[in-house]
Amino acid sequence: MSDRMQDQPMVVMSEDSQRVKDKDAQDHNINAARAVADAVRSTLGPKGMDKMLVTDTGDVTITNDGVTTLQEMDIDNPTAEMIIEVAETQEDEAGDGTTTAVAIAGELLNNAEDLLDQDVHPTAITKGFQRASEMAREEIDDIARSVDPSDEDLLRQVAETSMTGKGAELNKEALAALVVNAVQQVTVDGTVDLDHINIESQTGRTASDSELLTGGVIDDDPVHESMPASVDDAHVLLLDEAIEIEETEADTDVSVTDPDQLQSFLDQEEQQLKEKVQQITETGANVVFCQNGIDDMAQHYLAKEGILAVESVKQSDMSFLTDVVGAPIVADLASASEADLGGGSVSRNTTDDLFYVEGDNAHAVTLLLRGSTDHVVDELERGITDALDVVAQTVSDGRAVAGGSAIEIEVARRLRDSAESVSGREQLAVEAFADALELVPRVLAGNAGLDSIDTLVELRSAHEAGETHAGLDVESGEVTNTFESGVVEPAHIKEQAVSSATEAANLILQIDDIISAGDLSTDKGGDEAGGSGAGGMGGMGGMGGAM
Ligand code: ADP
Ligand code: MG
Repeated sequence: MSDRMQDQPMVVMSEDSQRVKDKDAQDHNINAARAVADAVRSTLGPKGMDKMLVTDTGDVTITNDGVTTLQEMDIDNPTAEMIIEVAETQEDEAGDGTTTAVAIAGELLNNAEDLLDQDVHPTAITKGFQRASEMAREEIDDIARSVDPSDEDLLRQVAETSMTGKGAELNKEALAALVVNAVQQVTVDGTVDLDHINIESQTGRTASDSELLTGGVIDDDPVHESMPASVDDAHVLLLDEAIEIEETEADTDVSVTDPDQLQSFLDQEEQQLKEKVQQITETGANVVFCQNGIDDMAQHYLAKEGILAVESVKQSDMSFLTDVVGAPIVADLASASEADLGGGSVSRNTTDDLFYVEGDNAHAVTLLLRGSTDHVVDELERGITDALDVVAQTVSDGRAVAGGSAIEIEVARRLRDSAESVSGREQLAVEAFADALELVPRVLAGNAGLDSIDTLVELRSAHEAGETHAGLDVESGEVTNTFESGVVEPAHIKEQAVSSATEAANLILQIDDIISAGDLSTDKGGDEAGGSGAGGMGGMGGMGGAM
């Protein structure tokens, strides 16, 4: 009996509740976490397969994206959810590398289980993992190359590497160029502001028709057909006030007793609208984007003034337009003046029924993505978002590493070399950590239909021979310097993947007592086939409602 078994305190629990302790608790958690990691592993890398996820209402998502897969899977298991958080942290902090982070977390737990079986205390394992994680991050920084933020060729390679294997891949050269241009346009003094890049998806054409616009796109119609659809020298008013009749007081019924009274009431309303339109014309605006509604009668007056007006513009579009035309959103029309207007041009694209709004000195751009169907553009958008993140990171952080698992192999090698300096059983954990990093080359090779052991052996010996950047390029199937073959990633992705995977694994390993209000071993949720016993979450079908 290990020293983990302590005196059991008396606990009073309901009849349905269940308690699992010590090794059983760890097994349960490790199995649940591993099931999640296994489920996304097959998507890793350029040759990874896509997943088709179907919700209970029949919505379909087809994706190769780790975080999307995990979010769409209906997972109802607290441990599994911790692994999903790894993906979410990775997505928030680095924007890419989610599958890698989850796969490493799963493998850390897998290797930890072997150590637990050899009676290594969980605390020694978590300490060793923590130490290894710090060492790994130092090594990543040491191995990384510094990047000139204006090196467009390299930035395009970073973009292409992250798009490889995604829906964006078929047009990756053209799309990578758009991504790099977009990032450069929103970079001011080395700082990238991704909020100034708007992504707009349109179905109907192909991905190669995607374009980058210096400005915004508004997917709305003019409120009145006799309004101009395009305005070259636009004076744009962004308005957050309805051009409608103001209700005097809520719930007041107006009782009208004779026709004259009705007429004067209507006149009064008309007057109010005329006044609002006049306030607009007095600012000198010839284009109004209104976040709220515009009354029919006001539409008519605005059209007569030759003003282009659009109503019910989305709030996100409004705030983006402030950066495009350089004007504030006006909340009170009565106090609006010429100083509140922005300059630029508005043109109507009649094939897509979109307004293109360009600003005189816009620092905001729109990537207009096109694809034949919703599923195609959705996956394209996920790929482009990742690419934007990695390019932005490379520009602002200025460090890149060689992909195709070159970095993982090199870090693993260095960790093994320094493991000797770590005392006691923690050393075993550092070695187990190094082994876990080598899951990446094994999976990349396996997913590409190559022999994972042969590839690993070849990679290891290249690194032993001093080839720091030797990785697997799956396009050629060769072990090569992936920096030279253009498989390049930001260093920060890898550092983040290591730290979020370690945190999750350690969190799970520290649990030695699960007290559940419900039954751990049966499927209480009444879901489909799932819940095959404590920790028995085999495959995706089994994930609904175990625990
Ligand atoms: P993640 O969600 O972790 O980003 P991906 O499916 O995007 O997962 O795969 C990323 C991995 O694919 C990285 O390890 C990256 O180096 C690798 N990769 C990308 N392009 C290539 C390539 N041409 N050859 C080998 N590996 C590649
Ligand atoms: Mg990726």
